Amino acid sequence: GIRRLPAADNAGDTRNHLPVEAVINLDQGDPTMYEAFWRKLEYECTFVIKGYESLSYFSNPKNPCWFLEPKLEESIKSLHGAVGNAETDGYSIVVGTGSSQLLQAVLYAVTSRDQTNPINVVSAAPYYSTYMEITELVRSGLYKWAGDAHEFDRDEPYVEVVTSPNNPNGVIRGAVVNREGGILVHDLAYYWPQYTPITSSLDFDIMLFTASKCTGHAGSRIGWALVKDKEVAKRMTKFMEVSTIGVSKESQLRVAKILQVVADRCKRFGSPEGDDFFEFGKSVLTKRWEMLREAVKKTNMFTLPKYPLQHCTYTGDVTQAHPAFAWIGCNDGMEDCEKLFRNHKVLTRGGRKFGSDPGFVRVSMVGREEEFIVFIERLASMKQMVNTNG
Ligand code: PMP
Repeated sequence: GIRRLPAADNAGDTRNHLPVEAVINLDQGDPTMYEAFWRKLEYECTFVIKGYESLSYFSNPKNPCWFLEPKLEESIKSLHGAVGNAETDGYSIVVGTGSSQLLQAVLYAVTSRDQTNPINVVSAAPYYSTYMEITELVRSGLYKWAGDAHEFDRDEPYVEVVTSPNNPNGVIRGAVVNREGGILVHDLAYYWPQYTPITSSLDFDIMLFTASKCTGHAGSRIGWALVKDKEVAKRMTKFMEVSTIGVSKESQLRVAKILQVVADRCKRFGSPEGDDFFEFGKSVLTKRWEMLREAVKKTNMFTLPKYPLQHCTYTGDVTQAHPAFAWIGCNDGMEDCEKLFRNHKVLTRGGRKFGSDPGFVRVSMVGREEEFIVFIERLASMKQMVNTNG
């Protein structure tokens, strides 16, 4: 396993503390890259909760989502306003234990008991592997996984999950099936300026976001849905009520604080204190993507997606995407790309899990600096290994 190390003081710390034989796990998108930013704001973001606080199940009985903390609602609105990535006026907000729980709540909310058959759930391949797991887990009578949206040709009701930017490949996407009566769920976990240029303030019917990918607070397990239709929001709330009777107040209040700090510091580019959270994230990811592209070029063994230059309304720059995952294709003759990386002690997620080809792997770009450096070193050394092995 990996030796546990004290986190580096800053993301620019490129010293390599890892033993040569360490296994580097880049399978999950664990957003530990952001620790360096939050470490600098140690006191500003410390959140204290007293023993007598937040005992009640309830937060705001007047809100359709009665367990949503008003402070969290406020900071979600101010963050979207400051970033300009999504509209919140006229939307109901539903909080969830991660956006993973919200996806389940959506599937419950948009289906009906009166259906004779479970509704089809599709997403365009390569799709986020968890959608299939979530849809299949309890063998619901309400919905069933129907796979790649490109292949969906049944004349039946469907829900399409549109992930934009997409996990695993970082591509900006729209709906694929485009049929009358289809229900769209937009998973916008990565529609933040560190990952991709913000080109408009989105106003889809159901939009999912998560603190996990926005600020890196995956451990708090807070996601939120912006929902246009009040009835859908109520049914989602009902799902949450029955599954967990709400969402941890400690988590909600902590994330409220974090989001507010991010919102208050928005657009303070180039401040000597490094105030702007998204500028920090973007600069770390830009550097990592440069290193990765450089190493890939040298090996001549892999391919990476190319992203268009676009004007970002948040930063004001013309910039390309720097996604949270690298979708690496292995050139001809290598059928199992995941195995190739595993042989070099790098754990990745193989293409098959995303409804795609085993000649691809997904690699997390948002982990700790020292692990990323070792990954790049091992990638760069692969050419040599393969060549010497014939
Ligand atoms: N949607 C997408 C596209 C994701 O990549 C993830 C996390 N990997 C999630 C949803 C779920 O995140 P969480 O449950 O931590 O909010």
